[in-house]
Amino acid sequence: MNPIYASLPDTVFDVMSRLARETGAINLGQGFPEWDGPLDIRERAARAVVEGPNQYPPMRGVPALREAVAEHYQRMQSVELDWKSEVTITSGATEALAAALLAILQPGDEVVLFEPMYDSYLPMLRRAGATARLVRLEPPEWRVDPARLAAAFTAKTRVVVLNTPLNPSASLIGREDLALIAAKCVEHDCVAISDEVWEHCVFDGASHVSMLQAPGMRERTIKIGSAGKMFSMTGWKVGFACAAPKLTEVFAKAHQFLTFTTAPNLQSAVAYGLGKPVGHFEEMRVQLARGRDRMQLALQQEGFRVLPAAGTYFAGVDLHASGIGMTDKDFAIRAVKDCGVATIPFSAFYVNPPETSVVRLCFAKSDATLDQGVERLAKARRLMA
Ligand code: PMP
Ligand code: GLN
Repeated sequence: MNPIYASLPDTVFDVMSRLARETGAINLGQGFPEWDGPLDIRERAARAVVEGPNQYPPMRGVPALREAVAEHYQRMQSVELDWKSEVTITSGATEALAAALLAILQPGDEVVLFEPMYDSYLPMLRRAGATARLVRLEPPEWRVDPARLAAAFTAKTRVVVLNTPLNPSASLIGREDLALIAAKCVEHDCVAISDEVWEHCVFDGASHVSMLQAPGMRERTIKIGSAGKMFSMTGWKVGFACAAPKLTEVFAKAHQFLTFTTAPNLQSAVAYGLGKPVGHFEEMRVQLARGRDRMQLALQQEGFRVLPAAGTYFAGVDLHASGIGMTDKDFAIRAVKDCGVATIPFSAFYVNPPETSVVRLCFAKSDATLDQGVERLAKARRLMA
C-alpha cells in the first residue's frame, strides 16, 4: 500500500461529524450551513436531472458554466478570464487542489505553504513526490512574515499554496501580503495554487482580492473556487479552476484522469446561480455575519475568549485564554462525548501544532443551534476549567 495514504488518519472533519452523529451532539465542527441553498438553484438542478441530458458533459465542463464562471469573476472581482482557455470545472475544490498539485509538481520539488493550513494540501503534494516548506502565520493578525517567507524558498521551490480567506484562522490575506508572496513567486519562477473557496464569505465591508490580481501573477496562478461555499450547498462538489491557458492545458490533463467530469445537472444549476445579482451574495454575507456576531457575543458572555473572524464560516475560541487548561484535541473529544457539542481542534491544521489551544466553531447555523451550542460549550467550560 502507498505509505502516504496508509498512514493517514480519517480527516478531522469526518471524525468529528461522525462523533456528533453518534452522540446526537450539536455539530459546530465541520463547516456546513444548517440550511440548504437557494430553492431556485435547487429547482434548476432537479429539472435538469429530469429533463437531462444526463450523459457525460465535456471534460473541461459545461460551456454555460465555464462562461458563467468568467462572467461572475469579471462582475464580482474584476478578474478577466477567457472561458474557453482559462476555466475548468472540477468535482469540488478538493479535486481542483489535487489536480493542480499533480499537474505542476514533480518528485523532488518543494512547495511553500502557510500554517495553519487546510488538511488536503499536505498529503496530496507528498503523493505528487514533493516536500513541504512551512511558513507559520501567527495570531492575532495572521500576517506573512517576510523573513520567514524568504527562508522557505529554495532553488527547488516550484509551487506556493495559499488560502484566502484562510480556514481555520478566518483571516484574509491582504494586498500587501499577497504582493510579498507574489514577488517571491516571480523571483523563483513558481506557480501559486490559490485556494479562494471562501471568497464570498468576507465580512465587515471587506472585499476579496484574488492572487490572480497580485503583481506578476496573472500567468502563474491557479485560482480555485467552490460552488458549495458560494451557494451554501457543500455537498454539491462543483469547483472551478481558473488559470492562464498554458496552466489550464496541463491542469485539464490531471483533471481528466481524476474525475474526467462532474454531474451536468449540478453544473447547469450552478451556471444559473452564478448569474445572481451582487445583492444575493451580499445577503448571504449579512446572514453569516449575523450568526458570527450572535455566537461571538454569547461566547464572550460565558467567559470565552473568541478570536476575530473576518471571513469563512468559522471563529476560533482560545481555550487557555478562556481558563481551560487542556489541549484543543482533548477538549474537542470531551465536549462532543460528554457535553453534546462538536468543534474542530486547530491543531489539526498544523504539522507541529503550536502551544496555543484553540477550537474552531462554525457559525453558519440557526440562532437556536448557535444558542444551544454555546450553552453546551459553557457547560463544558464549567466541567473542564
Ligand atoms: N479548501 C478549503 C480551504 C476548504 O475549507 C474546503 C472545504 N470547506 C475546500 C477546499 C474543499 O472544497 P470543496 O467542498 O468544494 O471540495
Ligand atoms: N472544509 C470543511 C471544513 O473546513 C470540511 C470539508 C470536509 O469535510 N472535507 O470544515
